[in-house]
Amino acid sequence: MNSLPKFLHHHNDDIWLTENERENLQISYRIKEVVFAKDSQLQHVMILDSYDFGRMLVLDGVVQTTSIDGYIYNEMISHIPLNFHPNPRRVLIIGGGDCGAAREVTKYEQVETIDLVEIDELVVKACKEYLPEVSGNLSDPRVRFIYQDGVEFVKNLEAQYDVIIVDSSDPIGPAKQLFELSFYQNLHRALKPDGLMVCQSQSPIFHADIMRQTYQRVSQLFPITKLYTAIVPTYPGGLWSFTLGSKIHGYLNGHQPFDKDTRYVNEGILNQCFELPEFVKKIIQPAR
Ligand code: SAM
Repeated sequence: MNSLPKFLHHHNDDIWLTENERENLQISYRIKEVVFAKDSQLQHVMILDSYDFGRMLVLDGVVQTTSIDGYIYNEMISHIPLNFHPNPRRVLIIGGGDCGAAREVTKYEQVETIDLVEIDELVVKACKEYLPEVSGNLSDPRVRFIYQDGVEFVKNLEAQYDVIIVDSSDPIGPAKQLFELSFYQNLHRALKPDGLMVCQSQSPIFHADIMRQTYQRVSQLFPITKLYTAIVPTYPGGLWSFTLGSKIHGYLNGHQPFDKDTRYVNEGILNQCFELPEFVKKIIQPAR
């Protein structure tokens, strides 16, 4: 049997990817084909074709996004903030190397520039070539790819952006610093006086402490801080959270109907996504 890229193993005649980033839980995916596998200077990048989730991006053995459910996350991390800001023109995406979030942002004709700051160029190259279901043919001239650490990129910016989307991997490796208070403080300064940011804030089931900490850090800086959720089947526990921090705007700009071409977000989702299950409310409540 030929040797497999790391993180993959044979079981009988099949190839499996087993995610074992948690001590007591392993999730395995049966793989049809290894489409792409290469080490960048930062992480191991794979595009795999799986039986149940189609093609998927895997970084250091962790599933990031798939052709079957990536649109849920990418739509939720993009359309919510872009409908919270009344007139988003300059958008910054930090991370997002699969290009899925950027693809959603290009659906807003009023957006003039989309800066995508991705630390690993190999992720973008692999997704553009081998994961078009997520990356789409992202050739929109408004998208500017900047291959740099997002932490460094925002360090000296002031009042540049209307919306900042932090589409990071889990808080391990290069993404760890994207969950620090100092990073959020730099985001705050990089935003215009009426700007707003959103970040993925992990699972309320498996990472309640990280979700609470992210919500608390953002709410220290932004007068309007809201958490919202969505179900992303390939993320551990399914239920996933997003934290939005806004300097001024406090509501969805309901003045125009939602008319974008989407598969998950609609008017109803926009209006009810901030409704939270009781246990999630309790996790983010300030300690008495
Ligand atoms: N949508 C998926 C999710 O929520 O997990 C994945 C988003 S995307 C694949 C995450 C990207 O963040 C990766 O391409 C990774 O290389 C990038 N990334 C991690 N740390 C970063 C940093 N400090 N600056 C910029 N990009 C970073």
